[in-house]
Amino acid sequence: MPPSDWQTVVGLEVHVHLKTRTKMFCRCELEYGAPENTHTCPVCLAHPGALPVPNERAIEMTILLGLALDCEIAERAVFARKNYFYPDLPKGYQISQYEAPLCGPGRFALPTEDGEREIGIVRAHLEEDAAKTVHAGGATGRSVGADYSLVDFNRGGTPLLEIVSAPDLRSAEEATWYLRLLRQTIVDLGISDADMEKGTLRADVNVSVRRAGEEGFRSRWEIKNMNSFRFIGRAIEAAFRQQVEAHEAGEEVAQSTYDYDADTDRLTVHRSKEEADDYRYFPEPDLVPFEPPAELVERLRGDVPERPAERIRRLSGELGFSSAAELVTNGKEWKAEALAAEGLDWKTAAAVAMNRDDFLPENAGALARILEANVTREALDEAFEAAAKGPIEAEDYLSQTALADEAELGPIVDAVIAARPEQVEAYRGGKEGVLGFLVGQVMRATQGKADPKVVNRLLRERLRPE
Ligand SMILES: [Zn+2]
Repeated sequence: MPPSDWQTVVGLEVHVHLKTRTKMFCRCELEYGAPENTHTCPVCLAHPGALPVPNERAIEMTILLGLALDCEIAERAVFARKNYFYPDLPKGYQISQYEAPLCGPGRFALPTEDGEREIGIVRAHLEEDAAKTVHAGGATGRSVGADYSLVDFNRGGTPLLEIVSAPDLRSAEEATWYLRLLRQTIVDLGISDADMEKGTLRADVNVSVRRAGEEGFRSRWEIKNMNSFRFIGRAIEAAFRQQVEAHEAGEEVAQSTYDYDADTDRLTVHRSKEEADDYRYFPEPDLVPFEPPAELVERLRGDVPERPAERIRRLSGELGFSSAAELVTNGKEWKAEALAAEGLDWKTAAAVAMNRDDFLPENAGALARILEANVTREALDEAFEAAAKGPIEAEDYLSQTALADEAELGPIVDAVIAARPEQVEAYRGGKEGVLGFLVGQVMRATQGKADPKVVNRLLRERLRPE
């Protein structure tokens, strides 16, 4: 094990597809999952003479995000050409922003169990995404060894927002927490689905290490195109282990791009320093610089909703930090708040918000009454199903009360215990989780009419070690 005075240093570059109707520089519609190459035009296919026209909505969304991250909004933003050759980039360059991005330095409040950390935002800029290359045949499904490759230009030209953090994150856990909260901020603003599975949110992860108290930074490894919270965390931990090993052995740690291999849980060099890209950035000659009008920035400032960090802080008092954080990063805290506002206790409200489907806010009062009453699980299921579709009346469900009579439930509980000796033994041997299974058996035997709280208690009493 490496000595504990080594510290992880992480910075994230997060790429987000903006949820505009059309592409960044042409009017092709964006449609996820559309048949290949059905949303293209001379602009996004780079026919000679075709000229780009910036998407106003994408610019507004970028400024909105910048405001939510307390960024300085540029008075004069410049689009720049980033030159490189790749089959999925028909122009031979990507229109991006380099020296004058739309959003300059900002900060992101990261609430934690023990207070708050501030993560610096270096910049947020707007660019266009490349098209999608699909490698076919071969054993690995990767470019090396593939039989052939196909390009789908539907994605080419999708507005892409890049948010660059300062190297302020200090662990894998903190980095993924930042990413979850940033993702929720983006979703709340309505500017993107930010869905890693669909590829509408991807992250490049920069990792280096240093000894506690050390000033400045050592060379970093960049892990590109990560699209899973779990793998990002594991890749950061693997990079930490490998870099500490190398530093301890006196080996040179060169700045490079790495790939994370989940099977071996190790990073391997993707591209060495000698081949580092030279993008030859220069201002895009087909576009004039953009100067966001002050009225526009002020209008957008008014559209920024309460930030997730603020909501977590607010709810932590009622629910504790981890429960508040879970609700907020799943976008479900409004349900808990609506039910609690109707008098339901916070703990039940939070559990219902996490585990039940969404309902129309107008039904919060009726649902709170139904939840407080001792109704059957069936009645509860029915109420929630109806509450998602239209207004409901509590009275329609309150008559279906659950079976809580111990004299009636006792023999059923005994029968279940007698019929499941293996599970009973497992529970007595310390497998707490088996209790849920036994509760389920009693629920089944009563067609869902038993009160699970009472069943739980009766089972625990009977299975207590003699
Ligand atoms: Zn187009």
